Parts: sequence; structure tokens; C-alpha cells
Amino acid sequence: MVPTFSAKSYEFATYVPARNYIGGEFQDAKSGKSIPVINPRHGKAISNVVMSGKADVDAAVAAAKAAFPAWRDVPIRDRAQVFYKLRELLHKNLEEMAWLVSHENGKTYEESVASVLKSIECIEFGCSLPNMAAGTQLDVSRGVNCQVVYEPLGVVAGITPFNFPIMVPMWMLPQAIIGGNTFVLKPSEQVPLCSQRLAGMFKEAGLPDGVFNIINGGQESVEALCDNEDIAAMAFVGSTRVGKLVYARGAQTGKAMLCLGGAKNHLIVVPDADVAVTAENVVASFTGCAGQRCMAASVLLAVGDVDHIITAIKARAEKLVTGKDIGAITSEPARDRINGYINDAEKKGAKVIVDGRKQRGGDEGYWVGPTILDNVSADLPAAREEIFGPVLSIVRVKTLDEAIKIENSNPYGNASAVYTTSGDVARRVMNEVSAGMCGVNVGVPVPREPFGFGGWNDSKFGSGDLTGWDGFRFWTRARKITTKWSLQKDQTWMS
Ligand code: NAD
Repeated sequence: MVPTFSAKSYEFATYVPARNYIGGEFQDAKSGKSIPVINPRHGKAISNVVMSGKADVDAAVAAAKAAFPAWRDVPIRDRAQVFYKLRELLHKNLEEMAWLVSHENGKTYEESVASVLKSIECIEFGCSLPNMAAGTQLDVSRGVNCQVVYEPLGVVAGITPFNFPIMVPMWMLPQAIIGGNTFVLKPSEQVPLCSQRLAGMFKEAGLPDGVFNIINGGQESVEALCDNEDIAAMAFVGSTRVGKLVYARGAQTGKAMLCLGGAKNHLIVVPDADVAVTAENVVASFTGCAGQRCMAASVLLAVGDVDHIITAIKARAEKLVTGKDIGAITSEPARDRINGYINDAEKKGAKVIVDGRKQRGGDEGYWVGPTILDNVSADLPAAREEIFGPVLSIVRVKTLDEAIKIENSNPYGNASAVYTTSGDVARRVMNEVSAGMCGVNVGVPVPREPFGFGGWNDSKFGSGDLTGWDGFRFWTRARKITTKWSLQKDQTWMS
């Protein structure tokens, strides 16, 4: 039984330790090691999390392997029923889950609610799979039928980052589990508590033991997952540095791998853009979740004279209250890294027109308020590297061509957007930027189900996307069956 989390405000509260969940039982790591889980708003330990090694990973994979044959044989409609119940439980416990997200991650309550609702949307897509996953068949010649069926892979695994404790796991679980696989989740050691609560809900929803398992830990547990030959497919969401390593190591054992990495998202603003729409969307994009989103705006490419729009963006950003409208930064090193980028850009000539360095959302915890850097040179780290904080770097350019060239020269390729009222400009940007998820007058162009989520270039390693139908295809394999029952001996196979 996983106890409910009782907090109903930002006031500091503790929660039970995060343990591994293997074959339906909670267990400590065999190493006996654990580390604190820090509430970023208070900078204090809310809980502890066990740190697993190879022996724990192997035990979780063995439990998932044992559960696979029976789960594979459950009809897909019945597998989906568990997720209908999970959806009900998440709705019923929405407030509790949102406070848990907020306490372990630092998001505002409103952002946390939105992330749980988005998780529910992912489940709803999963619940539609029995109606979508029928496969196809065709009589390809006289008496000869070809059929495609999507089959589960076996034991699969997912590794998730700190920034969306429940939503990113839910990018993977519905498609993988309703698809008939058994799953080992390795959540971020910074935010392991929502997954633990989720395990309790899965049990309540009737998921058989061993179908969903949790391994807590860091690098050692991820490496053991990569090396385990019984895992058929693995998805990773996190930084590019780690995603690249995990992609290469996991592939060595023949796993299907899909690793989503970091981002440096460029927004292009041209003079004809609608001022109010642009200001609202740009500010929401770079400050939402304190900029700790892979879809957050990071560079604003200001084409020509857009000072009137920048003035509106500045005014809007200055109204935001840190602690109320903007949540905490995940950790002390993360806060120092963000401030480091701002200090460096300022030293090298950028003008800090909105300064969040001294803003705080409370007496404790880790904070950076909205920050806008103007006249940033395109070659500075603040304009090229992932900052992962509420910082917008404005790079001034004369032409649209120049803006597109700068966007294209960045190694990442997660998202990009343009603000314009010209169809011609919008079309050009959508055709020419080197990014997998693009927006016109949309600050956070997240493809919603049934579309897949995933970037290009150094923002993704592997083919296909997560979420939506692409997610289902990643977690399954297509079997092609060709049959001929009306045996016509006088005809060739081509007839
Ligand atoms: P991270 O890469 O540090 O950690 C991600 C996961 O990898 C965690 O579970 C962690 O325990 C594990 N890990 C960390 N170091 C490891 C190592 N050396 N070897 C093996 N495993 C290791 O990422 P984070 O700080 O938790 O999350 C922020 C990053 O995630 C940002 O770069 C952000 O852009 C990215 N992100 C990307 C997407 C996307 O869809 N592309 C979505 C969310 C977050």
C-alpha cells in the first residue's frame, strides 16, 4: 500500500522513501544505498530514494520477464481496461498527484495540475489503441492474403528525466503496456515519488504484478539496464549528453533504442507579428516550468525592427511573480549554472533587460526569476547551449535568411516557432528550420495525440517518435503473415 501524499499547499511536507517496485512488492536496493530527494522550493529533503545496481535491475527484469507470457495473452481490450481505471484514479487523486509533482519537482501547483492532465491525455490515447491497432490485411493476388499484426516485444524499459515526474513516464507506459509488453521504469532520482504513487494506483487498477516495475537509481542502474540482454527495447528522455551514451550502450545488446535529448529552441519574430499574441506566447514559453522544459523558448531571433514587440515581452515578463507564477529551479547546481550563463553573456556585451538573478520565491530553495538578455551575440554560450532555466536570449538579425541560418547552425533540433501574420513568412520558416516540432504563433508547439513527440538532430537519437501512434509502433513489432488456403495447383504464386 502506498500512502497518499497529504500536502495541500506549498508548505514543506515529507513523504515515504522511494523504494524499488519489483514483481508487485516494494524493496530496498541490495546496495543498501540511498540519497535524499530534495524539495526545490524549500531546499530540504522531502524523502529518500534507494540507489540500485545491477542485481536490482536483473531482479526487476526477471520479474517482468516472468509476467510477460500471461500479460501478452490478455486481449488488448482487457489490457486497456486497466488504463481506463488508472485514468479514473488519476482524476480522483488529481489534487494529490499535482501537489506531489510540485513538491518533488518545484513546479507551481497550476503547472503541476496541467502535467497530470496531460498524463491523463496520454492514457486516453492508450485506451484508444484497441480501436486503432487492428493492423491491415489485403488479398495481394488470387487466393493469397497478406496480413500485418503488431506484437509486443517482451520486457521493455524507460528512463525518464526530472522535469516532468508523471507526464514523461506516461509518454511511454500506455502504449508499451497496452501493447502487451512488461515494463521496467527508471525515473529520475531527483523525482522518484510520483512513480511510486503510480505503482500503488496501477495495483489498485488491477494490473498484474510484474507488468510494471520500478528501479530507482542513477548512472549505475541505467548502465545495467543498457547491458541487460533480456530487455528488447528502451526509451530514454533526458539530456543530449546522457542520451547519446545510453543510445550507443543500449544498442550494443541489440535493443530497439529511442533517446530524446536536450534542446535549444529558437523563436523567430518578424515586424508584422501580432504584438499581444507574440508577447503572451513568448513569455509563457520561456518562463513556464521555470524554463525547465525541452520545449521552452530559449533564443528569440528578432528580425529587423521589432522593438515594439520586445517592449511588450519585457513588460509582460516583469509582471510575473517568482514563487507564485514561476516555480523553483531543480537544484543548487542548476541555479548556479543558469546564473553562470547570464553573468557570462553580460560580461561579453549582452544587456540584461529583465534580471531574475536576485529574485526569490521564498526564504529557502533555489530560484531564478524571468531573465531577458538583449543584443546577445549568436556565438555566445547563452545563444548556443541549453540553459534550462527561465532565460530568453535575444539575438538581433537584419533578415529572415539570417535568422533561419542561425537556427540551422545550432546542433539541437527539438522545436522552433515563428511569430508572423504573413503566410509566406510562416511557410518559409516551417519549410526551412531544422527542427522536428514547429509552431506558427505558438510558443510551445507540442504535438498532441495522436501525433508523435520528438525532435531532430542532437535532440533525438533513434528513429520514430514517442507518444501517439509512433509510440505504439516503437514498443511493438510488425509480423507479416502471408496465407493461401484455396490451393490452386494450376496457378503460380503470382496469379
Ligand atoms: P539527465 O540526462 O541528467 O537525466 C536523465 C536520466 O538519465 C535520469 O533518469 C538520470 O538518472 C539518468 N542519468 C543521468 N546521468 C547518467 C549517466 N551518466 N549515465 C546514465 N544515466 C544517467 O536529464 P535531466 O537533468 O533529468 O533532465 C533535463 C534534460 O532532459 C534536459 O536536457 C531536457 O532538455 C531533457 N528533456 C528532453 C525531453 C525531450 O522530449 N526531448 C523531455 C524532457 C526533458
